[in-house]
Amino acid sequence: MTQEALEREFPYRYETHCHCCWCSACAMSEPQEMARAYWQQGYAGMVLTDHFLLGNTAVDRRLPWEEKVQRYWEAYLAAKTWGDAHGFSVFFGLEHQYGGGKEVLTYGVDLEFLLSHRDLHLLPLSEYAALVHEAGGFLSMAHPFRDRPYIDRTIQPQPEFLDGAEVFNYFNRPPENQRAAQFAREHHLLPTSGGDVHRADDPAIGMAGVALRRPAGSIQELTAAWKAGDYRLIIQGELKEP
Ligand SMILES: [Zn+2]
Ligand SMILES: [Zn+2]
Repeated sequence: MTQEALEREFPYRYETHCHCCWCSACAMSEPQEMARAYWQQGYAGMVLTDHFLLGNTAVDRRLPWEEKVQRYWEAYLAAKTWGDAHGFSVFFGLEHQYGGGKEVLTYGVDLEFLLSHRDLHLLPLSEYAALVHEAGGFLSMAHPFRDRPYIDRTIQPQPEFLDGAEVFNYFNRPPENQRAAQFAREHHLLPTSGGDVHRADDPAIGMAGVALRRPAGSIQELTAAWKAGDYRLIIQGELKEP
């Protein structure tokens, strides 16, 4: 199928992996600025996946649990309020670091879930994954084979706790993404693509994510399309078969 035909069939683009400065210490832009940037690129929506409390969070770790998780929800609501006024969908997610710089993208949980699982971020991945799955959530390993000094390479991805794996991360090197694609195939994980964008003026905006046939009204509809295999990956801005 030609790229034009694919784009006609899967016109609704969603970023699956981005950050804002309210909750990610490494991010530069406000949540509303991130939403505007994707909207300007013609995206139908985005999932805000800020670094959770064991990762590079911008949230003060000394705050009580309720206040800490409320900060994540407030950033999401700020982006969502902007989105609602512009016909752009914003969904809630997290990028949870579970040790050694290894991270899982977490979709389909909400504030109530976070409030009822105090110190969730300190659990081993097996227990974290069990709680997320019990709540109907979806886990995709972020940049599984990224090779950087801050990541402990001796910690291997644990496919038994995952639903998906990011086979295209805009900031990974091609061999790292190729290894991730192979890993996803071997373990029957659903491939996802993410920009991992930390600023609203980043050229990565528009280069990654997933495309759907129909708009997703909720994060559950987005992950349901993944589970049904009814989506395309956005890789360097082009649509590809998952
Ligand atoms: Zn970051
Ligand atoms: Zn990230």
